Amino acid sequence: MTTAGEAGWHASRYNLQAPMPDGKYVAIANIFKGNCALYTPIELYLLSVVEELDENHPIIERFAKRGVICNFDERAALQTMSRAACAAVHGIGLTICPTMGCNFDCPYCFEDHGRGKMSPEVQDDVVALAERMLEASKATDLSVTWFGGEPLLAPDVIESLTQRLMALVEERGGTYSAGVITNGYLMDQAMVDMLERCKVETCQVTIDGLEDTHNATRVLAGGGPTFERIVANLRNCKIPFKVNIRHNVHENNRAEMEPLKEFIDQLAEESGNTLQYYPAPVSGSETADERGRQVNLLCESNESEVSITQESQRFHKGRGHYCGAHTLWSLGIDDAGNLQKCWESVDKADHSFGTAHDWDPADPFETAAHADKLTSWLNTAGALDDEECQECIWLPTCVGGCPYKRLYVERKCIAFKDNPEEYVLALAARIGEEKSEPESVEETKDDSDE
Ligand code: SF4
Ligand code: SF4
Repeated sequence: MTTAGEAGWHASRYNLQAPMPDGKYVAIANIFKGNCALYTPIELYLLSVVEELDENHPIIERFAKRGVICNFDERAALQTMSRAACAAVHGIGLTICPTMGCNFDCPYCFEDHGRGKMSPEVQDDVVALAERMLEASKATDLSVTWFGGEPLLAPDVIESLTQRLMALVEERGGTYSAGVITNGYLMDQAMVDMLERCKVETCQVTIDGLEDTHNATRVLAGGGPTFERIVANLRNCKIPFKVNIRHNVHENNRAEMEPLKEFIDQLAEESGNTLQYYPAPVSGSETADERGRQVNLLCESNESEVSITQESQRFHKGRGHYCGAHTLWSLGIDDAGNLQKCWESVDKADHSFGTAHDWDPADPFETAAHADKLTSWLNTAGALDDEECQECIWLPTCVGGCPYKRLYVERKCIAFKDNPEEYVLALAARIGEEKSEPESVEETKDDSDE
């Protein structure tokens, strides 16, 4: 007999487990494969002695399918995937700031609002850069996120650039898509109609709690409340695209997560608009952390709970690269044409690696004014030079964490790093919700075929 161990099989290094509250099963999440299933005590025993089993034992195939055992070096595979992710082309992604000006003055905002709107010359540079990126990548699809500042302060720039960028994509037979991140204050029906003409498909509007709580932090520049007008816009406009309502969750408004979600659901029902509540813990940039501390906005203990819910819902998506900052084909462009790898950097000229006028992805380092800045972003992919990350069980889903924090703040581990059981139970609960049919004790609940 050849044992499974002799045939190269061994337990995955990326198994996390937690006993289920019913006491009958143990849930095991395999972070590499993106699978979570329930195991009986017998299966658990077989897993513990898997290398001694006959290589043809039927449980081997089942375990392998779920990723809890494997016959290759998963960490080496992750390293390869991280390198490959930097070169992968999934279309061009541009985050464009038509202005860095803003009509709000929120205390946790990470931006330094100082300038006017994008000039016609910089708009020409943006279009030429998009064309170079499409050429060099051979991609045909372009996705734009309008950001700022408050992008709706410069609707003329959005409309003009959209027409020119869409023309580039049409020439290539590709797909143009767009989204906007706005505070929602100026989003009246005329603005919504403009965004629809500009092919905006998703919109993010921030509401930080019910009226009093929101108005305590989301204030107009110069002072004044904003809740009523934002809500009136969402209620009265006919909005043909999805609006994600971002709730910056902090210690003082955490209790309003449920009431705000109910309020948004009600608003969606009354208006007929697609409004989706989305909680986001406040932290993540030096300025945000600093300003957050000043106003007691951080919530380290509570962040974990929010993140577990979110991460358990995007379990399958974590491998290879963390975000667009790890690829050549995703850029942020500020109103002056400075290029960034991340929107947290858009107001920081010293983080910029080049300009829309000069940078050419066909020759990415010669044409970058600061090539070392570009390589430093790309080289954070997979945290290949970080020994702790390479040993970490969370690496397949964390991939070393946010590149911005790694480069400019500090490595930020996932919030639930020290709480794997809660994470696994959140996953198991989600799978349980999706698969409501009763299953025999011989079977495991398994979402690997989805
Ligand atoms: S680097 Fe971090 S903050 Fe920037 S886009 Fe990526 S995940 Fe977001
Ligand atoms: S950043 Fe932290 S949680 Fe993520 S892989 Fe590295 S050590 Fe693990």
